Amino acid sequence: MTVERTLCIIKPDAVEKKRAGAILQMLEVAGFDVVACERMPLSRKVAEGFYAVHKARPFFGELVEFMTRSPVFVVVLEREDAVAKYRELMGATDPAKATEGTIRKAHGGNVGENAVHGSDSAENARVEIGYFFPASKVAPVAG
Ligand code: ATP
Ligand code: MG
Repeated sequence: MTVERTLCIIKPDAVEKKRAGAILQMLEVAGFDVVACERMPLSRKVAEGFYAVHKARPFFGELVEFMTRSPVFVVVLEREDAVAKYRELMGATDPAKATEGTIRKAHGGNVGENAVHGSDSAENARVEIGYFFPASKVAPVAG
């Protein structure tokens, strides 16, 4: 298994509830290195671009409203098998269906306001990291 990276966004609901620190701690305890972390408000244009794959979904408008409501933390994570391991730690999209011990179980509110985002493939992780961070800010993986 090789060291890889994934993108996490701590969403507005969790930042508003002051859960960003607790979520970063869960990630570190689970063996992730925080390679980059920036608190920023998402503009409508940036949020729409990020979630463009969901444009046709009925919840798209609601999702963009939510993601632009207040600042998020955009976080680059690194560890072995990062994409799959982080999806596991994140838990199901609907926090009510998430397993005990997952971030969404502990900090998510509902299927829309579910505390965190996570890349769903290594290729999407590369695209999503590049969407937020220039190469100069995210040093290459050692080795
Ligand atoms: P994310 O992409 O944010 O990591 P995910 O991969 O678990 O979440 P997706 O199916 O990609 O889930 O949906 C993207 C986001 O859209 C969800 O995290 C949630 O915020 C929102 N969403 C998904 N389904 C619904 C729904 N039925 N109603 C409202 N919002 C939804
Ligand atoms: Mg997704």
